[in-house]
Amino acid sequence: MTRPLRHYQRLLAPPEPDTAEFAYRRGGLLTLLACGIFVSAFTLLVQTGPDFSTADRLGLAVIIVKDVALTLWLWRRPRHFLAIGLTELLLQVVASVVRLYLTLHSPPTFNGLGGYAPWTTVTYLAAFLVLPTRPALGVSLAQFGGLLLVGLGFMLSPRSDPAMKAALGNTLLQTALVHATFIAFLTLQQRLLQHYVQALVGARHEATLAGQDALTGLPNRRQLNLWLRAPQPPLLSVVLFDLDHFKRVNDTYGHSVGDETLQHVARVLRRTVRQHDRAGRWGGEEFLILVAGSAQDAALVADRVQGALRAAPYDPVGTVTISCGVAQAAPGETADTVLRRADEALYRAKRAGRDTVSVAA
Ligand code: GH3
Ligand code: MG
Ligand code: MG
Repeated sequence: MTRPLRHYQRLLAPPEPDTAEFAYRRGGLLTLLACGIFVSAFTLLVQTGPDFSTADRLGLAVIIVKDVALTLWLWRRPRHFLAIGLTELLLQVVASVVRLYLTLHSPPTFNGLGGYAPWTTVTYLAAFLVLPTRPALGVSLAQFGGLLLVGLGFMLSPRSDPAMKAALGNTLLQTALVHATFIAFLTLQQRLLQHYVQALVGARHEATLAGQDALTGLPNRRQLNLWLRAPQPPLLSVVLFDLDHFKRVNDTYGHSVGDETLQHVARVLRRTVRQHDRAGRWGGEEFLILVAGSAQDAALVADRVQGALRAAPYDPVGTVTISCGVAQAAPGETADTVLRRADEALYRAKRAGRDTVSVAA
């Protein structure tokens, strides 16, 4: 892809699907299309009289067909959001400018700019729903410029009907001012939306960091505590494990190798523990695994971690061994007492000579 094209694509890039901003924009466009269908159908049903021509009826029917088609398209294919939005925008801009031209140059009816004129502002709303601020402003100003040119052309042309000019001059000016006000409002509103979205993304990032251990990237004690205090599955067991003779690693190779060893253990842990069991760093060189299962299930998980560490010696430290304490939560037991029993089991595992798993009674 050429650079300008890529630049253009980035400029138009809609937010990622399944973000709140995308849902807002897609929902807004769907609502706008639904309004188009409703207003057009309503007008077709109730409008009668000599002012309402066959061309008007045909125009409304075309709008309904177009809006239904775009609604179905956007409903079935959310990822086509940008293509659908651009189609809608292009049709609206062209229709608005052509319609104003026809209104000003049709035989004098002295009924203002016609029923359609106020609806040309909908383009601005659609542009700001579909596009980021700058391109949205561009599309809006393009239509606004087109309308201004048509209006000015009408007012300045010696061929325009003088009576029509006198009747419509003020209306055209007021309309232009309303359009400018609406565009300015939407620009400010879009800025606000962007600040809001950025704040949301930042807050989510901070929340992730708050639950994450900085050294290993594993869930930290705070996060593990949140999980432990949330409603639990019927069967819950914990594995608390502690690295054996870790002080020696620090003393022999230095603190930074000690840190790297902890990161190594975290990597092994991450790939060994199944998705629905949750593992984190409990503190220092102690780790905790929450297992949705019995003490036997948890002991198997502990064995698996030990095996995985044995299979992956870490240079220059060599094989890292761990001692594990396992406890199964009794019905209604608090997190604190389960953890205390796991800690006692861990202590027994250390006393039994380390590199072993001890299960609390
Ligand atoms: P044991 O087999 O009885 O557990 O022996 P140990 O040497 O591991 O003893 P202990 O658990 O008392 O020692 C923990 C050591 O872990 C002490 C501390 O310096 C070290 N440690 C704790 N957190 C970190 C860390 O984030 N980085 C490094 N490099 N060392 C840490
Ligand atoms: Mg320790
Ligand atoms: Mg230790």
